[in-house]
Amino acid sequence: MDCIFCKIARGEIPAKTVLEDEHLIAFDDIAPLAPVHTLVIPKKHIANMGDADDEDRELLGRLMLAARDVARKKGVDESGFRLIANTRSDGGQEVYHLHVHVIGGRPLGRMLLGR
Ligand code: 5GP
Ligand code: ZN
Repeated sequence: MDCIFCKIARGEIPAKTVLEDEHLIAFDDIAPLAPVHTLVIPKKHIANMGDADDEDRELLGRLMLAARDVARKKGVDESGFRLIANTRSDGGQEVYHLHVHVIGGRPLGRMLLGR
């Protein structure tokens, strides 16, 4: 699939991998917004949460637990972190391959920047 995150999942584009298994991969964001900014993606191409199927239930659970593992590995599980899944146009999604941002390492303030 001609998708930048699919290419990262296949190892065709280099990324700073934080963790990986047969279902998913986590890698550092190329333009970090905080000391910790890692993306967790399923290896299966799902465009976004709007496109997720009920059959993806287990995979989505794995994605959340991998986000937890990223937070632990990066040492922000105790200080705290934020998970974000930007979805479609109003959600500000730029890359149409489902990803969960794991952001932390500094106080993140309130929920939204755009207000
Ligand atoms: P979105 O706005 O779709 O939620 O976020 C996409 C994220 O992917 C952005 O934070 C952007 O910096 C990151 N990104 C885009 N292209 C690449 C890339 O080639 N490598 C990495 N590591 N991150 C990328
Ligand atoms: Zn993809």
